[in-house]
Amino acid sequence: YIAIDGISKSFGSMRVVRDADIKVGRGEFVSFLGPSGCGKTTILRMIAGFETPSSGSISIDGRDVTYLKPSQRNIGMVFQSYALFPNLTVAGNIGFGLKVAGANRAEIDSRVTEMLALIKLPQLAERFPWQLSGGQQQRVALARALAPRPSVLLLDEPLSALDAKIRVSLREEIRAIQQELGITTIFVTHDQEEALSMSDRVMVMYEGRIEQIGTPYEIYNHPRTAFVAGFVGTLS
Ligand code: ATP
Repeated sequence: YIAIDGISKSFGSMRVVRDADIKVGRGEFVSFLGPSGCGKTTILRMIAGFETPSSGSISIDGRDVTYLKPSQRNIGMVFQSYALFPNLTVAGNIGFGLKVAGANRAEIDSRVTEMLALIKLPQLAERFPWQLSGGQQQRVALARALAPRPSVLLLDEPLSALDAKIRVSLREEIRAIQQELGITTIFVTHDQEEALSMSDRVMVMYEGRIEQIGTPYEIYNHPRTAFVAGFVGTLS
């Protein structure tokens, strides 16, 4: 689980995150939803350890990680652009983190097999990234993030670069995998439908502030601010 207490972030004189408090329960799937530039990615990057908060603290599973390096945080991450290692096979990509961590061949092989089954691509182990569709590449990126068994999964617009049909089927697949593993997950998106259809709870942000945190039902039916009403109301 994740506890974010009073974090703020400024770049120069620009405050892009203002005093944010969020708790994400163990096994919970929470979306950060808001328009471009609202600060959602900056919060995710602070949880991951790519940015340090200007104030406030972040803990994961009860451990204060505010100033720890990304590699010390036990997180897995998937980005919008696939960012697979182009010179490694699918199996090589998925096993990469375990190899770096010093796992032996047998451990790596068995985890890779398990991950390929999880993403339903057992036949693609020896392919290279350029031989995969965009949707397959994102599933491999997910498997790579999950292979070291992180306690938290961070997804930064993982579906944005895909075409509409694949986006909808991957939504369901990501959610099914997340529930099967029971992994605590944060999903950053500017897509209202994605956030509302996938999440246990949604945090809506605007101009660095949290406007509302609630279940999809609460956000959609009981928006607490004019911004939330307008932003979620643009659903087609
Ligand atoms: P998007 O979906 O476009 O990524 P976002 O809601 O995730 O938007 P952030 O990426 O968190 O927004 O950015 C919030 C604000 O902070 C933006 O105005 C952005 O230009 C600014 N910003 C982000 N990173 C930096 C940085 N390293 N240096 C300076 N400004 C930054």
